[in-house]
Amino acid sequence: MSVVRIDHVSKDFQLGEQTVHALHDITLAVEPGVFLAISGPSGSGKTTLLNLIGCIDKPTSGKIYINEQDVSSRTANELADLRSRSIGFIFQTFNLLPVLSAAENVEYPLLRRSDVSPEDRKRRVDYFLDIVGLSKYANNRPNQLSGGQRQRVAIARALAVKPAIVLADEPTANLDKATGREILKLMKQINRHLKTTFIFSTHDQKVIDHADRLVQMEDGTITAFGVRNGKTWNLAHVRNLPEGDDEEASQ
Ligand code: ADP
Ligand code: MG
Repeated sequence: MSVVRIDHVSKDFQLGEQTVHALHDITLAVEPGVFLAISGPSGSGKTTLLNLIGCIDKPTSGKIYINEQDVSSRTANELADLRSRSIGFIFQTFNLLPVLSAAENVEYPLLRRSDVSPEDRKRRVDYFLDIVGLSKYANNRPNQLSGGQRQRVAIARALAVKPAIVLADEPTANLDKATGREILKLMKQINRHLKTTFIFSTHDQKVIDHADRLVQMEDGTITAFGVRNGKTWNLAHVRNLPEGDDEEASQ
């Protein structure tokens, strides 16, 4: 079973008169428990793909399955509900609420979960702040924390819903190298210990090298799939269709 399955998905954006083909015919299956990197230059479609997997946005065509359930035709409310149970998000710019403390930020996504009691909420906040090493900073607001600490709060917040998948869009891009490495190490430890599936985007080769699965993107398409083999990657390159071959040329 795949935790995420993407079946011939395309995504277009309308920009005034112009149509931007952000993703073109993406097909991909993600096994549970993997630490998957999506790599590619800026503009290749990484964020668009993560937003579709995270049900923040809908595909123009094709289908997306989360835990083998088709999410393509769900309503906005159903998607919000699915997100609050199954998906944790980590962003490049942390996206913490500035007026809330670290603990309150971690608690925040649990507030819309009627199945999680106030006691359980508190237990989860304490537990996940401890996992990311921030118990002592529970009452600090984001502006009283360093960049690395803010990203740790964001990781705790993502985990607090006990998601099937954590999606992280360039999680180390706003951090210095050493802090970025620490954050990645922490994500990987959590992946190994809690078996949470991580899907993260990056264009940093050092970050890619921590992954155990790789999807390479370019111009809205997948150009290669990689499986780690010790220190090297077994890369399977996706054949680019020559123009006119069984599909119309795209421009
Ligand atoms: P990446 O995250 O790899 O840098 P994105 O997914 O952000 O790439 O963007 C892929 C392409 O889609 C780019 O050409 C970008 O300009 C375009 N794009 C992304 N979001 C929008 C949007 N909301 N409106 C118009 N174009 C967009
Ligand atoms: Mg991006």
